Amino acid sequence: MSELLTKIFCGGFVRLHVLYHAAREPIFGIEMMEELRRHGYDVGAGTLYPMLHQLADAGYLVVQTEVVGGKQRKYYRATPEGSRALDEAKAKLRELVKEVLHDDPPTPSIHRQEPTK
Ligand SMILES: [Zn+2]
Repeated sequence: MSELLTKIFCGGFVRLHVLYHAAREPIFGIEMMEELRRHGYDVGAGTLYPMLHQLADAGYLVVQTEVVGGKQRKYYRATPEGSRALDEAKAKLRELVKEVLHDDPPTPSIHRQEPTK
């Protein structure tokens, strides 16, 4: 994906993807970066960690530090509020997919009718 495309669209996709996984099980940064790469998103630590912190600040994720192999590892999981936000985002996503990916027959123009002169 081009840098511009990533900047414009992918921040939201990545946040949603993170929230989805964190609602299923605790996740940690490196593992999540690998998961995102598997889906074609090249998201580095400099992008992912600020997103995780942002989602935590919003009350959607909680952080728990555990020691794994002598190193501290931060696990993130969705709060009940995060799960609710995910459900709302899913409904919006479903609606968007319905139009953008299944646009057959095409959605009528959004232009209002020309005023009659
Ligand atoms: Zn995934």
